[in-house]
Amino acid sequence: MWNALKCDFCGDCLVECRYAGFDQDKAVQEMKLLAEGKEADILGLCITCVACTDTCPTGADPSNLIFQMQEKIGTAPLVVNTKPVCEALAKGLEGRGAPVEIIPGDIDQPVLSFDSFEYKQFPEGTLDSRLFKGLTKVRGPEYMSLTGCVHMGGESLIRKYAGKVIDKLAELGKDIVYLHNEGYALAKVKTAELGISVPFKFRHLYEYLLDYLKTHRGEITPLNKKVAYQANCASRWLPEQEAWLDEIFSLIKVERPLRQYDKLNALCCGGPIMGANRNLAIEIQENNIKDALDCGAEAMITMCPICDAVLRRPTSKMGLPKIFITDLCRMALGEIPWPDKLTH
Ligand code: SF4
Ligand code: SF4
Repeated sequence: MWNALKCDFCGDCLVECRYAGFDQDKAVQEMKLLAEGKEADILGLCITCVACTDTCPTGADPSNLIFQMQEKIGTAPLVVNTKPVCEALAKGLEGRGAPVEIIPGDIDQPVLSFDSFEYKQFPEGTLDSRLFKGLTKVRGPEYMSLTGCVHMGGESLIRKYAGKVIDKLAELGKDIVYLHNEGYALAKVKTAELGISVPFKFRHLYEYLLDYLKTHRGEITPLNKKVAYQANCASRWLPEQEAWLDEIFSLIKVERPLRQYDKLNALCCGGPIMGANRNLAIEIQENNIKDALDCGAEAMITMCPICDAVLRRPTSKMGLPKIFITDLCRMALGEIPWPDKLTH
């Protein structure tokens, strides 16, 4: 959450923003305008990648200020383009959308939350995978992670509905495993910022996968592959997930090649701006995939269904298999084969 007291108006966040093209003076001027609640050029240029929050040395959370202002001003193409989606999400969060879907599991097993994503937005076989055997599966608009609303001018939805979403999950009376890290970011980061307590235990998908792989260590067949990682934007709020992923890769013998667009320098998948600025989205995607190929990656790993969907066509076109992180683990466990041929 934006904290003006932590900002010294150095401008570094917007100088480093690869989509703004600002020098230091312009960046400082823009941050001052935003902090005063005034319109600024960055509102139209920002693609909501959250990288500047990662860049800020003081923890002031500049992207949150930008998202608040994008919503307040309301004229950024990205916001205008996604307004109907945001309105539909709010309706769903009020309980006026599609009904909750629950697939019951074993009484002593946790719940796997798909947030508001459709089950079919995850790879075929996810629901039946041995990875999630016995877990109760839930999805529905009222379980929405909310953190993704910042991509559509809906930053206030986080503050308005965070408590409601947590209460809805608490009604299930079980521990929660978040299949998508936006849900985990809501439970771990955003609730803490908002002073909301979470009355259940919860785990990030990577923590769960790591535990599963360690428990089934003897059933792992080393993949011995090099894969590039496409971190989604919520990863910026969750630095701890890097170590979990590295350990997963180590267990299944996957190497994450050093490449330009990784970690702090990771690129957005292009999803948030696909409707508002398609050419820029395609340019970002092509640069990202080329970088992965240049570093010898044999596949690109995604962990968000939006990243996965928007990268399907360009990865296929450029000859780089794209694999969802759960499928990568299923491959190591012999449940599905490595994609020798591109079938996306
Ligand atoms: S938000 Fe952080 S990086 Fe940006 S101007 Fe303020 S202190 Fe500097
Ligand atoms: S969120 Fe991303 S695109 Fe927006 S200002 Fe920050 S770094 Fe730039």
